[in-house]
Amino acid sequence: MLAVIATQGVISVVERDIPDGFGELITVTSSGICGSDLHMIEAGLSGVVLGHEFGGLTTDGQLVAVRPTGECGTCVQCTSGFSHTCSMAGRSLHGMSRDGGLAEMVRVDPNQIFPMPSGVDLASVGLVEPLAVVIHGINRSGIQAGSRAVIIGAGSIGLLTAAVLVDRGVIVDIVTRHPHQALAAEKVGAHPVSEPGLNYDVSFDAVCSQQSFDACVQATRPCGTLLEFGMFWSPVTLNNTLMMNEITVIPSIFYGHNHEHHDFEEAIDILSRLPFLIDAVVTHRFALTDAAEAFRVANDRKSGAIKVHLFLS
Ligand SMILES: [Zn+2]
Ligand SMILES: [Zn+2]
Repeated sequence: MLAVIATQGVISVVERDIPDGFGELITVTSSGICGSDLHMIEAGLSGVVLGHEFGGLTTDGQLVAVRPTGECGTCVQCTSGFSHTCSMAGRSLHGMSRDGGLAEMVRVDPNQIFPMPSGVDLASVGLVEPLAVVIHGINRSGIQAGSRAVIIGAGSIGLLTAAVLVDRGVIVDIVTRHPHQALAAEKVGAHPVSEPGLNYDVSFDAVCSQQSFDACVQATRPCGTLLEFGMFWSPVTLNNTLMMNEITVIPSIFYGHNHEHHDFEEAIDILSRLPFLIDAVVTHRFALTDAAEAFRVANDRKSGAIKVHLFLS
């Protein structure tokens, strides 16, 4: 089968054996390229089959989304409903620590697959993972309907955050840099702005740089909340505006699941209720064989790309 790997920063499509061993064999129908893939490739990620935003068809023909994080299942974090902070979550991540979904097929733990409702687009499964990231952060922020929010960063995470917040009755400004981002923001019902205003109840940092963090601190009202979608690829320092205003900084990583709630199930529900999200956010689609060009476009801020998907040709 064909699979996409990076070797010292160079993307190539290679021939690999169909994965065997434990788990469900999934024939991938759509797979997204994430900003964190680009960071990790730049940092030297090599050899593993890329892709953590994917889904496809089981051998029974059921369309499923895949949660790429695993878990040990026995540690305190796993048994108390916080398995996304289990040390195995990152160490078992498809596309980073084990082979991912930028391939014709991938083998996945049955606990990590989620059936999609009938009638949804085959391409939609690739958007479930980033949407689950967004839902996890929004739920952690505790934001209420009628609140004002600002989002710094209008990539796929920022725009999906905007869409889910609008769906929850929040008034949303999103800072955009490019016309295609402003257009997408309008499509999901948010207000594109070139600079954030002041006194938002909650700010969402979808960039995770010093500049975006500081902009969120400035824009948040005293005793408000700053939600950090994460990874800080470079360390960020705190300042006294944050202290004087007692802004609550909430980090958010991956997606959670416990007996009451599952971020992936909520993401699937939102995607089936708001199918326009796919066209608003997935700006480019490439065949798996064109992976090198797909990564080039995803990495080029001027390309007009928000989310780039690959599919099987
Ligand atoms: Zn991602
Ligand atoms: Zn664990």
